Amino acid sequence: MPEHPQHLPDRVDVLVVGAGFGGLAALHRLVTDHPDLEILAIERAAEAGGVWRENDYPGAACDVPTSLYSLSFAPNPDWSHSYGRQHEIRDYLIGVADELGDRIRYNCALQDAEWDAAQALWIVTTEHGVIRCRFLVTAPGALSAPGVPDLPGASDFGGTVFHSAQWEHGHDLTGRRVAIVGSGASAVQIVPEIVDHVEHLTVFQRTPAWVVPRLDRTIGRTERTVYRRLPAAHRLIRALVYLYREFYVILMARRPRLLPIATAIGKAQLMTQVRNRSLRRRLTPDYTIGCKRMLLTNKWFPALQKRNVTLTGAIAELTSEGAVDSDGRTHEVDTVVFATGFTPTAPPIAGHLRGRTGDTLADTWAGSPSAYRGVSVHGFPNLFFLYGPNTNLGHSSIVLMLEPQARYASTVIRHLRDRGLDTVEVTAQAQQAYNANLDRELGGTVWNTGGCASWYFDAKGRNSVMWPTFTGAYRRMMSTFVADDHRLGRVPAHADDASQVIR
Ligand SMILES: Cc1cc2nc3c(=O)[nH]c(=O)nc-3n(C[C@H](O)[C@H](O)[C@H](O)COP(=O)(O)OP(=O)(O)OC[C@H]3O[C@@H](n4cnc5c(N)ncnc54)[C@H](O)[C@@H]3O)c2cc1C
Repeated sequence: MPEHPQHLPDRVDVLVVGAGFGGLAALHRLVTDHPDLEILAIERAAEAGGVWRENDYPGAACDVPTSLYSLSFAPNPDWSHSYGRQHEIRDYLIGVADELGDRIRYNCALQDAEWDAAQALWIVTTEHGVIRCRFLVTAPGALSAPGVPDLPGASDFGGTVFHSAQWEHGHDLTGRRVAIVGSGASAVQIVPEIVDHVEHLTVFQRTPAWVVPRLDRTIGRTERTVYRRLPAAHRLIRALVYLYREFYVILMARRPRLLPIATAIGKAQLMTQVRNRSLRRRLTPDYTIGCKRMLLTNKWFPALQKRNVTLTGAIAELTSEGAVDSDGRTHEVDTVVFATGFTPTAPPIAGHLRGRTGDTLADTWAGSPSAYRGVSVHGFPNLFFLYGPNTNLGHSSIVLMLEPQARYASTVIRHLRDRGLDTVEVTAQAQQAYNANLDRELGGTVWNTGGCASWYFDAKGRNSVMWPTFTGAYRRMMSTFVADDHRLGRVPAHADDASQVIR
């Protein structure tokens, strides 16, 4: 690899996009399995970390036990808590990236990529020039593009406005009148952290969420030493946590009838933490628990009851004086924080990937993403789209989905190389059959039947976000490549020296 950090080669065999959990898993897997190939990763930011670099808001932490939230090839015995904090997950990922050496180019966003059928190469335009590659592995993240509501009056508001994933650390909240828009996973982490510093906090809640206790604990020095000295003990804990998290799928996807157990836990916490009946009513969801992501926190309800907090309905507009709720009441605020989540069903990169027909992935999806096994899309040869459609989880660590995807890309590339082939494209029929089955399975899950509106549903009303069953089932499926579901090809003999790139 070239010495200068920003020097881009004209051509590589495999280009990975993104240096979050997904991109790093892919880079590691491919480099390990294919040491003879030229493999490079590009990352638009100045360092690795993905969402854990971006989401450095107060209180940011993991929502699954961190023993599961690490890459299998880079175990970390040093988490400070059972739910790791943002800064340590970010530092962990930066450490993993450092181990991968100079194979990652930072500050180098993919701007466009186009499939050149004649040469069977992706032509990728980046901030620092054009690279051609035989295989493109994109890992841009499903939750990396902030979703901000388009509010009337936004330009009249004279205060400070930002999204939770773009926290303005230079903007001191001490003594300010702050609006938090949203009451989801980020809001419940932020509010308890800032409530004692601000003069007043107005929380705009569209729908209350189910909240269950967070059984967090400090991992002491002795325990960490045990994990460091006895990796088998660490692996055992990971396996146990894995098994109990898999059990959640039975509740959400297999036997939603058992969900009243979880409801009872949520209600008990609400009863014990909120004595005021009318407030309790406003904090009680009207949909089945699990339909939207359950929130893990012990601090949300106590924070909402502080004397300087107002809980109100959805935000309707901004004005020069402040923020107006859905009942038309104006709340005087000088800072608005959108804790409004992300746009997983409209990933920005999809508008920049042009496949075999010249259409972009966004055109192809037309508001409703779908893929084969979450990673391959008909019309987009030699592309692996990590954390793609229907690979999100409601019960466990996404890393358990990303690593099988990374391994799958490597397996498919191995399959082609062993047979002297250059291209792979999933057939339309295989993709359709796969999704018909997926939709059938999703039909019985609490996400589809629980009576809520959630970010799991796309513009066409399809749940194109969730994986409907065990992560073990996904891992098993991804460990095989079904050649019959694909069209495999060779670069035409008359094409330039492209075929020399790889094999
Ligand atoms: C606040 C928050 C908390 C979360 N908590 C959990 C949790 O507790 N447990 C869990 O399992 N999951 C959690 N998630 C989901 C999380 O997205 C995944 O667990 C995981 O981090 C995804 O990794 P990724 O590499 O696919 O994506 P990301 O972490 O989003 O990384 C994608 C990377 O790609 C880069 N990129 C994007 N576009 C381009 C481009 N055009 N060119 C170059 N680079 C590009 C980005 O800069 C980024 O670094 C959380 C997400 C958020 C936002």
